[in-house]
Amino acid sequence: MSQLTDEIKRRRTFAIISHPDAGKTTLTEKLLLYGGAIHLAGSVKSRKTAHHAVSDWMEIEKQRGISVTSSVLQFNYGDYCINILDTPGHQDFSEDTYRTLMAVDSAVMIIDVAKGVEAQTKKLFKVCKQRGIPIFTFVNKLDRFGKAPIDLMDELENVLGIRSYPMNWPIGTDGKYFGVYDRQKKQIELFEDDTTHGQNTRASVTGSLDDPEFAKMLGAEAHQTLMDDIELLDMAGEDFDLEKVARGELTPMFFGSAMTNFGVQNFLEEYLKLAPEPQARQSSDGLISPEDDKFSAFVFKIQANMNPAHRDRLAFIRICSGKFERGMSVYHKRSGKAIKLAQPQQFMAQDRQIVEEAYPGDIVGLFDPGIFGIGDTLCDNSRKFEYEAFPVFPPEKFARVSAKDTMKRKQFVKGIEQLTQEGAIQLFRQAGAGMDSFIVGTVGTLQFEVLEYRLKNEYGVDIEMNMQPYEVARWMTYEDDREVTPASLRGADRGMFVYDRRENPVLLVSNEWALGWITDNNPDLELHTVPVDR
Ligand code: GDP
Repeated sequence: MSQLTDEIKRRRTFAIISHPDAGKTTLTEKLLLYGGAIHLAGSVKSRKTAHHAVSDWMEIEKQRGISVTSSVLQFNYGDYCINILDTPGHQDFSEDTYRTLMAVDSAVMIIDVAKGVEAQTKKLFKVCKQRGIPIFTFVNKLDRFGKAPIDLMDELENVLGIRSYPMNWPIGTDGKYFGVYDRQKKQIELFEDDTTHGQNTRASVTGSLDDPEFAKMLGAEAHQTLMDDIELLDMAGEDFDLEKVARGELTPMFFGSAMTNFGVQNFLEEYLKLAPEPQARQSSDGLISPEDDKFSAFVFKIQANMNPAHRDRLAFIRICSGKFERGMSVYHKRSGKAIKLAQPQQFMAQDRQIVEEAYPGDIVGLFDPGIFGIGDTLCDNSRKFEYEAFPVFPPEKFARVSAKDTMKRKQFVKGIEQLTQEGAIQLFRQAGAGMDSFIVGTVGTLQFEVLEYRLKNEYGVDIEMNMQPYEVARWMTYEDDREVTPASLRGADRGMFVYDRRENPVLLVSNEWALGWITDNNPDLELHTVPVDR
């Protein structure tokens, strides 16, 4: 096997998706501990305030180093090289999160055993499902009272539309669990008593389920429940089918407890065995295999001003094929230029460091002189293809934004363009309006506060911001391709007629009802939720 193939085979690149508080931070920490990457649990904690409030996010901003360090983590476990990509839990960061999911090969979904499928999990799951990537489920907090496992399986199927295959099964009755039965190894594992937080299993026995010894160990009632459950699963449950898992149609389901370490190592080992190595990706030149020896990558995240003293920006790339080497020269498709990758950084568990080489599945941070945009492709100079475009998410909140001090217009425009390029906001111009104010569209309201904060702190511009009463944006075309203008559109004054950055006409309206009126009164108008390529 070539070195490249070797490196690809041992890589696993994934994100953990969950609703806040389900245990993502705790599980990440435990995975790092097993990988020997950190010695003290708790070091991942610093970033977690980002979930909760704007003020916390600002605080995190001040310590960008920390939040960025933990947004991508690489560590080894046995022969495997693991890349975990962080997905911020706050719903207003969802766009950023969606993009991160474009860069992984699989996802781990954490479900709180007592709460089941929650709102944020649902949203993130949908994106994984659309991408068709494998999803592995970890049902967490088994040390606590929880829902019946059968009900959780039903919930996954009914709410998320995915069937599950339990790899292990909780032992206990009425939502009180004290261990699991491993279906592959046919092994019973019981939790350690609370005092030690279950770092070790108290007892672990392998054998046939109907062994009388098992009944003695578990108590008659729990033993009977377990036997009934497993019989039902074996008969009526889904067969384990790795191909279905690979297509995202079946999720292997693990029960455990991140906090008490119960089932975590077992989960990690099974996951590493079953999860896919870096996969081929669709491009304008067809599928590109990771084993293609010509380098290629795409930008999935841009983070600006990590160090306010230097005004730098980092573009995070996911390597898709070939070997990455520090200092190599690559072709940047969008600008049509060759670029030298001089100071690439990689993120180990605790700090950033300069990376000399990296392989498909790895994430590298590149200093960005202001040329990279989300979704950009970088490839070997001899190739010049482009990876598939990122999905665009329709904005749902709008504000008119201008600089308070008109003398600062230049910095204002620069700042707002930079944030647009980072993908934090979408920029529109009202038809007939000058360049003094813009209409900014976002997916969540938090972005407005971030916009205000960053323009002030990074560009020294105070802004005036007026929320607009619109919640729906539609890109407009006519069937015969003639131009849509404020004059040609009947009822244009029922909303706001704006242009996006590429001068595509867009109508902002307050609700679907208003949209209905527009459709009824403009028979040959076509409405689109995302920009139409012209
Ligand atoms: P995140 O918001 O998803 O990152 O969740 P955290 O990892 O911060 O966990 C949220 C809370 O749940 C914390 O108080 C954790 O200590 C707790 N927690 C995490 N895992 C477990 C578990 O297995 N059992 C119990 N009882 N609590 C847990």
